Amino acid sequence: MKERLLKKDDVKDLCTKASEQWETYVPLEDIGRDTHFIKLNGKNKRLLLDRLNLDYESLLVPPKVIAFPQLESLFKFQDGKIIETFKPSVKRLLFGLRACDVKGILFMDDFYKRNFEDIYYLNRSMDKLLVIVGCKSPHENCFCTSTKTGPFLPLPGSPERAKFAEFDLQLVDVGNEYVVEIGSKKGEEFISSYSKFFDDASKDDIEHKKQAKRQAEEAVSLKLEFEKAVKKFCEDKVSRRMYERIAERCIYCGGCLYVCPTCSCFNVFDERKSSLGRRCRNWDACVFDGYTREASDNNPRFEKWNRTSRRYEHKLKYDYLVTGMSGCVGCGRCLSSCPVNIGISQVIEEVTKA
Ligand code: SF4
Ligand code: SF4
Repeated sequence: MKERLLKKDDVKDLCTKASEQWETYVPLEDIGRDTHFIKLNGKNKRLLLDRLNLDYESLLVPPKVIAFPQLESLFKFQDGKIIETFKPSVKRLLFGLRACDVKGILFMDDFYKRNFEDIYYLNRSMDKLLVIVGCKSPHENCFCTSTKTGPFLPLPGSPERAKFAEFDLQLVDVGNEYVVEIGSKKGEEFISSYSKFFDDASKDDIEHKKQAKRQAEEAVSLKLEFEKAVKKFCEDKVSRRMYERIAERCIYCGGCLYVCPTCSCFNVFDERKSSLGRRCRNWDACVFDGYTREASDNNPRFEKWNRTSRRYEHKLKYDYLVTGMSGCVGCGRCLSSCPVNIGISQVIEEVTKA
């Protein structure tokens, strides 16, 4: 499919127009000078869009929160009866994602339908349009070129292309415009619906796009021997001592897991006021003592090092063995969020040098 051109000056108008048909999420600068995906709603969408930031280095809170909120009410109950509070699915547009976060979303989509269909997650995730704006200046903790998850995803027809469409549209910054790559039929239909915003890309634009992609790849400075590390994990060649060393430093705050775009652990609890109650779920973390504690008070992972090993083995061994893709997309958030400076990148370095 031929590339198109979108002027940067038209992006806010496009998002405003699209938000009439789509529940639209965009990265907006927020309190604390961080950027988050926020829903465009209300009468003052243009005012919100004044905070649009498509040049962010990395979002600390991943876009998984859109389909998997930190706390959600699943249903209510009263007098022995369940009251469904399920909202009908709506079309969602996620505009301005990074490639690694799209991989994270696809990983979560697969997880929440792999062994059973989690209707609460899937209801929020099933009908969406994924628009990547590729990184120009990656964060120093990113290593997506090592995990092959960025800074851009391969196009349909290219040898490394996955079986299914990984993105709908992918925007490459070439100065005052974006060159728009089309990844799916849905993406093509979106462009047709808002055709007045898109022009044909010229040969020069395509050349600029290739150059911009090369520069973005070169800008990812953290290079890791990722495949070697995964192989060592799969062959059980990682020492217990390494986990013990991490466990000695880790304060078990759970930060690295909460911000990880592929961490899916949750807890379920009920709360009630008189006869009316509700069942909720909230994010949990496999490094917490209480996560693996059983009703009998037995805890099969009582020791800290053991819970640490679970975390890294899950990402770099079991996810890979079960799905063929690792549970790490190289976003670097675990290092950015950790108060004691432990990230999976350092674990990978440690394992590959041993
Ligand atoms: S383990 Fe760390 S680098 Fe990998 S996806 Fe999760 S937060 Fe990102
Ligand atoms: S963020 Fe750091 S200290 Fe907190 S649980 Fe993760 S590794 Fe441990």
